[in-house]
Amino acid sequence: MPAGIDKELESALAAVVVPYLGTDLVSAQVPVEIQERDQRLEVTVTLGFPAAGYAPQLADEIAAALQDVTQVADVSVEIHSKIVSHSVQGSLSPLPGVKNMIAVASGKGGVGKSTVAVNLALALQAEGGRVGMLDADIYGPSQPRMLGVSGARPRSRDGKSFEPIDAHGLQMISIGNLVDENQPTVWRGPMVTSALTQLMFQTRWRDIDYLIVDMPPGTGDIQLTLSQRVPVSGVIIVTTPQDIALIDAQKGLEMFRKVNVAVLGIVENMSTFACPDCGHVTPLFGEGGGQRMAAEQGVPLLGRVPLDIRLRQETDEGEPSVIRDTSQDLAREFREIARYATGLLSLRPREYKGAFPKIVVEEKK
Ligand code: ADP
Repeated sequence: MPAGIDKELESALAAVVVPYLGTDLVSAQVPVEIQERDQRLEVTVTLGFPAAGYAPQLADEIAAALQDVTQVADVSVEIHSKIVSHSVQGSLSPLPGVKNMIAVASGKGGVGKSTVAVNLALALQAEGGRVGMLDADIYGPSQPRMLGVSGARPRSRDGKSFEPIDAHGLQMISIGNLVDENQPTVWRGPMVTSALTQLMFQTRWRDIDYLIVDMPPGTGDIQLTLSQRVPVSGVIIVTTPQDIALIDAQKGLEMFRKVNVAVLGIVENMSTFACPDCGHVTPLFGEGGGQRMAAEQGVPLLGRVPLDIRLRQETDEGEPSVIRDTSQDLAREFREIARYATGLLSLRPREYKGAFPKIVVEEKK
């Protein structure tokens, strides 16, 4: 290769934009290795988030950009993902067996937080991540039903800890799997925190990249305590587009900011309604609310999820839309959101794991 090609290769890579990182490969400091062998370029790219559904497109774009500058006809590109642990709020430590916890929260109930959480978890898994679900929505634990494991009880090997329940490949646990789902439970604040802390710490999570936490809705004392105690790398706020929901979502966002939890972005749920008969699209709850809030708060809008009867039916049946063959349009939307959220997370500071050097102070004689 002619001298000075490194600069040319770099500028070619700088022209490849990864939408989920909001910038190009070079600016995002994505590790790229290039080797030349027998008139052939072998390129290895390591993304910090799972991206099985995007890797072929990215590989094509990189190959085309490099072919342009090098004139080497044979360029092979491999895309890998290496997911690391990112820093959590305050002086908390990450959960053993879990690289990153991502909270899914909402300012109020009924906006589709649990629906978004479960589809997001399955979308991340489809992209290649090892994923878990912690159902912390203690007042209305809906994950057992949504994941088709109602009535399943977690096993314990030692009488002290729980093995997570396997649900469509996710490692999950919910208070709904420990108490009778139909039995109303009266939880006082400290009980909620204590029950959730036990669920979180006494479950033997096995090498999870992302543990999705379905948070209880609202911004009361319990939610505030949890936002301070659950060691999350970031939070995703779910809202519907109408003003009344946005006001609550904003309160939620401010609560997380106050306790230094990184807000990864907003998901606007029930954005539009497509009539199943005529296909006419109606913005039932108003238009552009999520976008406006995202712009005002300086956080990304990670995506919009339509109001679609399949989402309700399929999650009710315990097989969320992301894993149904017939709902690939919805799956695509959730996989976009999953890549965007974890792509942005990959740009955040890493959790510092190394030990500090020992400082020895010697007294001078
Ligand atoms: P939350 O966790 O915010 O209380 P849920 O996820 O339990 O809300 O959703 C409330 C109800 O709305 C559920 O029956 C769910 O199936 C339905 N739902 C949520 N999002 C959608 C959507 N985009 N389209 C259709 N139904 C939805």
